Amino acid sequence: MPVVNIAIDGPAGAGKSTLSKAVSAALGYIYVDTGALYRAVGLHMLRHGIDPKNADAVCAALADVRVSLRFVDGQQRVFLGEEDVSDAIRTPEASMAASDVSAFPPVRDFLFSLQRDIAAESSCIMDGRDIGTVVLPNAEVKVFLTASPETRAERRCKELAEKGMPTPYADVLADIIRRDYNDSHRAVAPLRQADDAVLLDTSDLDFDAAFAALIQIIKERVQ
Ligand code: C5P
Repeated sequence: MPVVNIAIDGPAGAGKSTLSKAVSAALGYIYVDTGALYRAVGLHMLRHGIDPKNADAVCAALADVRVSLRFVDGQQRVFLGEEDVSDAIRTPEASMAASDVSAFPPVRDFLFSLQRDIAAESSCIMDGRDIGTVVLPNAEVKVFLTASPETRAERRCKELAEKGMPTPYADVLADIIRRDYNDSHRAVAPLRQADDAVLLDTSDLDFDAAFAALIQIIKERVQ
């Protein structure tokens, strides 16, 4: 069977990971969450007392970072050396550190071949910010998944409340708007829709409708 690559990009909170996970399971593809790689690099820096905002220190430390992805029943686990850090990378600190280190070109170069190698070997849905534009410019299907900042803030508020961390809507919305700005205005690999990507706005779609829309986009392009 030929390898098929599907690139899904978009801002935080658009539903990329939930939808990518469900669609990849339905198609029998692996799901690659590239944000986890940036988070693992960020976590490495935090654990070694390196300021994630310090470009020189971060870049010098890259040689010591042993990051890898392993797939168990199609589920991605991320490792630093032999340690499974899939849960440790989900803290707000690791999230912030990921955002900081992801702005440095040597960090992006460092993770580039890892992402490309996985996609060359396996049919996958890969989600991130620069997959359709930089990492997999020849992907068979490219989708730019988005939703209004208000919808994304509402979803995030619900998620936080369910996790026992209720947060005011205004704070969550302000954070989303700030992160959107940072992601789309950074000098290196800014978040933008690839020219040949299909735009899927999930603002008015529930999960089932968004899932069906994504499957439809893929089926139209992949036999
Ligand atoms: O997607 P997630 O929120 O886990 O990503 C963590 C951080 O990594 C984000 O701040 C994002 O800017 C960065 N990232 C990136 N390029 C990707 C995936 C994530 O710069 N392909």
